[in-house]
Amino acid sequence: MKPRTDDHTLNQLEASGLRGRGGGWFETYRKWCAVLAEDGRPLVIANGGEGEPGSIKDRFVMRARPKDVLLGLKIAMDVLGAERGYVYLRGSFGIEEELLRKALQDLGLASIVSLHRGDDSYVGGEETALLESIEGRTAWPRPKPPRPSAVGLFGRPTLVQNVDTLARVPGAVNEGSAFAATETLTLTLWGDVRSPGAYEVRTNRALRDVIDTEGGGATSPVGLVFPSGVQSMPLTPAQLDVELKPAAIEALGSALGTASILVLGEDTSWPSIVDAVARFFERESCGQCPPCVLGARNLRGLIAGDRPSANRLTPHSAIRETAAFMSMHGYCSHSRAGADAVTGLFTRWQGEIIERLRGVPTRPGARERDPFAPEAAERRALDDFLNLM
Ligand code: SF4
Repeated sequence: MKPRTDDHTLNQLEASGLRGRGGGWFETYRKWCAVLAEDGRPLVIANGGEGEPGSIKDRFVMRARPKDVLLGLKIAMDVLGAERGYVYLRGSFGIEEELLRKALQDLGLASIVSLHRGDDSYVGGEETALLESIEGRTAWPRPKPPRPSAVGLFGRPTLVQNVDTLARVPGAVNEGSAFAATETLTLTLWGDVRSPGAYEVRTNRALRDVIDTEGGGATSPVGLVFPSGVQSMPLTPAQLDVELKPAAIEALGSALGTASILVLGEDTSWPSIVDAVARFFERESCGQCPPCVLGARNLRGLIAGDRPSANRLTPHSAIRETAAFMSMHGYCSHSRAGADAVTGLFTRWQGEIIERLRGVPTRPGARERDPFAPEAAERRALDDFLNLM
């Protein structure tokens, strides 16, 4: 590794322990070092392509603290020796673009940082798909390796860092080892809560407390909580005293991811949620890799009952076989994530799902719903929150 301009800043970043907020919680210092280790003139991209259904925390950060995002981007550019930076936004993020453009002018960075609005596809925010978009092509993920740190935008070593992470960089390099003691998390609370929205909270808070305080409490007795929306296994009411730390939630067999915290009342039809998750992965497959496209279509059909499993297979076996095929293929993680999510949820509720497929629901009257659908009331409530900012 060859730090080029600013060892002190890099050392402070390492001491802070800052981890990426794009869902993977990867150590920021190590991500920057991976780019420094490459030859060539690097570039830096702030990823504001937030597409996780039910997550608005990146939009919240870009609207509330656009200058922090850009100052973090500039620090990364200085440390890596990058002469140009980019901010990638979803196509519909016009308000965020406007605010960032003004902040660029105010900070005197307009000549070295470009804003790019791509499309509104879910995979458009994937770290290699946005490279394609900025280069003028369809936002489809690239096969990896090589990773963007080695061969990224225009073939150059590229750091792609989430906007929420970058907004935390100025604080992290200022405070160094003291940063962790006051670390916060920006999360989205949605679903059956009185005050859905985005909130910044300390990471030592309990999930239950945040639902009751920032969320104003649940609107009906809680059945399950998905800590990272469509990407995570749900937690039961008995598990809600967990702290909002990635390791604590992983210890419960789930993931904090982008902290898109979906609260669902106990009157929810759980098979309809599994169906909704399967529909999401089918809908958002970009179409490049047949195992992802066909596998996601098959999984959804098996869960919904409009694609009966072959006679030789039980629904359970057919789902497992399809998921195993999907897990081994795909340019990005969508195929594997879909296989994991659908099989994990199916395993949990297979009795209820099979009864539902037979037309004999085990909990008649339970609410059928799809909170992940683009026009879902649960998601519109989050747009309302942003529009009131
Ligand atoms: S795995 Fe799916 S979403 Fe990812 S590139 Fe392939 S088809 Fe597209």
